[in-house]
Amino acid sequence: MPTITACGSALGCASLRLAANHGFTTMPTDRPKFFLTTAIDYPNSRPHIGTAFEKIGADVQARYRRMQGYDVFFLMGNDENTVKVAKKAAELGQDTQAYCDDMARQFREVWDALDISYDIFIQTSSPRHHECCRKFIQKVYDNGYIRKDKYEGWYCVGCEAFKTEQEIKEAGGVCPNHKTSPIRRSEECYFFEQTKFRERLLKLYKERPELIQPESRRNEIISLVKEGLYDLNITRTGEEWGIRVPWDPKFTIYVWFDALLTYITGIGYGDDEAEFRKWWPCDIHFIGKDITRFHCATWPAMLLAAGVEPPKQVFGHGFVYIKNEETGAAEKISKSLGNVVEPMEIISKFSGEAFRYYFMRECPFPGDGEFSWQRFADVYNSELANNLGNLYSRVVTLISKNFGGTLPGGRKIDPDAILPYYQADLEGNRASPDGSEALALIHPGSTANVIANLKSLVEQCRYNQALQTIWANFLTPANRFAEVTEPWKLVKTNKGNAAEVLKYMLVPLRTVSILLKPFVPRAAETIYRSFNFTKPWEHVQYEDAAAYETQGDDLRILAQLEGGKVKPLFPRIG
Ligand SMILES: [Zn+2]
Repeated sequence: MPTITACGSALGCASLRLAANHGFTTMPTDRPKFFLTTAIDYPNSRPHIGTAFEKIGADVQARYRRMQGYDVFFLMGNDENTVKVAKKAAELGQDTQAYCDDMARQFREVWDALDISYDIFIQTSSPRHHECCRKFIQKVYDNGYIRKDKYEGWYCVGCEAFKTEQEIKEAGGVCPNHKTSPIRRSEECYFFEQTKFRERLLKLYKERPELIQPESRRNEIISLVKEGLYDLNITRTGEEWGIRVPWDPKFTIYVWFDALLTYITGIGYGDDEAEFRKWWPCDIHFIGKDITRFHCATWPAMLLAAGVEPPKQVFGHGFVYIKNEETGAAEKISKSLGNVVEPMEIISKFSGEAFRYYFMRECPFPGDGEFSWQRFADVYNSELANNLGNLYSRVVTLISKNFGGTLPGGRKIDPDAILPYYQADLEGNRASPDGSEALALIHPGSTANVIANLKSLVEQCRYNQALQTIWANFLTPANRFAEVTEPWKLVKTNKGNAAEVLKYMLVPLRTVSILLKPFVPRAAETIYRSFNFTKPWEHVQYEDAAAYETQGDDLRILAQLEGGKVKPLFPRIG
């Protein structure tokens, strides 16, 4: 059996993912565990930028937790046991399984291009998932929470779900999601009696206020459970594709019921008890805000019905809208509007890292955000190319060109020693009006405070605020410091002072390389590894960003140069 260890690198995870699909065992560890999941996607169309938004938000959390010493397991997958998928395959004249496998490959191609560091990718058509699902539903049946009955109601084919009278009425006689007329459908079926869990759910919300995140979605769920909870029809008849109900095989399990179970079948429920116990309960389920109800009411009720503890947290993130460049209106991403943007279009023009940065910086993860090509290019050029990229290129190139790639004493910096350089006007009359601000960024005390704040922002998934903080506290002041002190001129007139200035540009550069590791892992690694910093890259934690190097003396450039210049991190795009 292959062994799983936490893994931060894209390469490591690639092999790990393969291994993980064939069963696994885990080395015992005393590190705290962190188990997170994303919603699993319908593979009847390729992922769009909104789908990618969620995966990146989850990946930042996974990478941050690994960095901070957690033993992380990150689960993703595709939701394949659906009529829509079988239909789509039939339309294309393909075998349903072959179609699912090919779509899973296409999804993973996109996730790999975005460096999503998942540990396992579940296809719900896999025999293992089927087997574990059947065990779960049997358990709920044996525990007396499933009854046979008849269901008649309004059914939306697009949602593959019955809609309540009220939902249809409020939307004006159509499905609120699809704006299409529902059909009247009546069938014999099995109900999951989730209404029996009303009191236990309400108690759970009270005991675990952090269960439903962000806070704003909590009241909505509480009132729904109080007033609008109904028993859920969890079976279908007459369908070939899907998972059979173990005690009554003419029925298949409703796709939602089996999809939710991915979160536990993927970590060994039903076939590896030790593994399951190790990871469960889930630390965060990342989902879109539109499916909060299923995750915060039905899912915990299902688990309670099977005697399993509910998850610790469900995080309902916001949506990405497309900004119509002509009208300025924010539009929902939809095929019918013809505005679907595929992640690969953006990745091939810019890069996977630029993609990650834009969506984490521009779209508040708990709220909603917008995409436009113009805005993307503006953010890319101003924040990545001209700010982060420029600082990096300047430091590496100036040290390489003027100091033979070695800055004596460059690893022993007393941040307080910068004071004279800020106060004493370096070239006559050039004292920095922003000296105090720039100074704050290299003072260990204040950096430590900023980092403590950043940790809390990342842990709350407030990624856009975290990135804003990094730019405002470190990168923008460091660039301003460079503009004021002009080390590229100083090297010609006062080399000693130029060396000091460069040392002080290095401090924030090193700091941000560490802080950006969960967000833009490749650029962050490139920056860090361009210098002979002491701590191995694999082991840096957020706290290390506050403590400058203490060992050794000389700072050496390790980056490879071409024609005296370092390769740009984010080449400007016109
Ligand atoms: Zn619908």
